[in-house]
Amino acid sequence: MSSADQLIIFDTTLRDGEQSPGASMNMEEKLRIARSLEKMRVDVIEAGFPVASPGDFESVKAVAEVVRESVVCGLARALPGDIEIAGEALKPAARGRIHTFIATSPIHMEKKLRMSPDQVVEQAVKAVKWARDYTDDVEFSPEDAGRSDVDFLCRILEAVVDAGATTLNIPDTVGYNLPHQFGALIENLIARIPNSDKAIFSVHCHNDLGLAVGNSLSAVLNGARQVECTINGLGERAGNASLEEVVMAVRTRQDLFRCDTRLDTTQIVPCSKLVSSVTGFPVQPNKAVVGSNAFAHESGIHQDGVLKQRETYEIMRAEDVGWGANRMVLGKHSGRNAFKTRLQDLGFEFETQEELNETFVRFKELADKKHEIYDEDLQALVTDTSQCCADECFRLVALRVCSETGESPEAEVTMIVDGDERTAQASGAGPVDAVFCAIESLVGSQAKLDLYSVNSITEGTDAQGEVTVRLEKRGKMTNGQGADTDIVIASAKAYIHALNRVEEPEQRAHPQL
Ligand code: MN
Repeated sequence: MSSADQLIIFDTTLRDGEQSPGASMNMEEKLRIARSLEKMRVDVIEAGFPVASPGDFESVKAVAEVVRESVVCGLARALPGDIEIAGEALKPAARGRIHTFIATSPIHMEKKLRMSPDQVVEQAVKAVKWARDYTDDVEFSPEDAGRSDVDFLCRILEAVVDAGATTLNIPDTVGYNLPHQFGALIENLIARIPNSDKAIFSVHCHNDLGLAVGNSLSAVLNGARQVECTINGLGERAGNASLEEVVMAVRTRQDLFRCDTRLDTTQIVPCSKLVSSVTGFPVQPNKAVVGSNAFAHESGIHQDGVLKQRETYEIMRAEDVGWGANRMVLGKHSGRNAFKTRLQDLGFEFETQEELNETFVRFKELADKKHEIYDEDLQALVTDTSQCCADECFRLVALRVCSETGESPEAEVTMIVDGDERTAQASGAGPVDAVFCAIESLVGSQAKLDLYSVNSITEGTDAQGEVTVRLEKRGKMTNGQGADTDIVIASAKAYIHALNRVEEPEQRAHPQL
């Protein structure tokens, strides 16, 4: 495959995906996802927006230190300070890319930037040149391209290519385009910009009308050679184009696409499960490629056909996207070494022997309750551990619940609250309500419960339940997760995890791109 027909996969789960309400991740979680993306052979990993906060800077830097194969990208507005900080964060990268952007639609230029079109072109050119001082790999995005004047787009894109931009990304920031129209825009830009052959055209589509993948594929059919996407379609509002759908559509319809990705598609399902576990955003069962029903055949006629000849009803093979792979299980007799090796395969590195020992103890406790420990269980275990940091305000110590037909459920919760151990009892409409009421009486957060969901991580009645709780306080939304074979305990863990996060100060700029 020549480089001309390679479709570059640019994953922005760690940047745009993390901007989903409630999906913020800590550095260790971002590293785990970055390793998983690299293992899948994603070409470019957008690791964050370094200027947003010191935490974002450190996360991008940490990803740049760890990832060796994929290009690591940092986002920056067309401002010298943003670009300097992005360049600094990417210094350790084997291959670093700066992605800079400025708005080009009349409404954004006039109302937001208060700049004339000439000034915007000048600023974009300067930004690309500043970025080129740090790396040869510079991407430029005209923000709100979908509502920008095409003549102006041609002018600014030609100028930034002359200034040294190597990738031109066309975002449908607000998810407004239709596939035929978006494809025509890409075709038009490539045809009209005189130096368009000196840059890769990229697209970044949002899913507000459910068309992010459709628009991306239409762009690829019209000459785009990079797609920006996220695992499970995570992202602002209705999300971004989902990586798994874009990759499998191109792979499955090689009769129509004159390009293909270099992804190892067998890593898709493990990566999807990891992202779901870290963010607490479950994957809907009927989601294409990675939903639990995506390869299940209910109807008898279909089953009969598939059993006789799979291709009658299946256009993809479940094992090609990683279903059923890595079903190696650990159990209570598994040793520390097998445990450590398996977690390394899942992208989790222990920093200290102590951390390994502590997680191994929790693994043994789980193995006593549940005979077969799957990869999903291990992921939940380390997600749980990584979220229990020493400086948290609230920690669960003990929990007792009484639930009986005809009686009102009662809960007794013991917690550490700011260093003190306290106990409270409460009753509720159900056992989970009773537990949450008891916790709230100890904490007094007055946060509002926006969402509660429980999913079984694996099959079997002894499976761990993974609970997601979303709390809202003063407009800030925060997700918490907890996993346990006892779903009431998992619920308490998730609630407390969300409480710890909702109290953290948040001062981050979120780019709308
Ligand atoms: Mn976006």
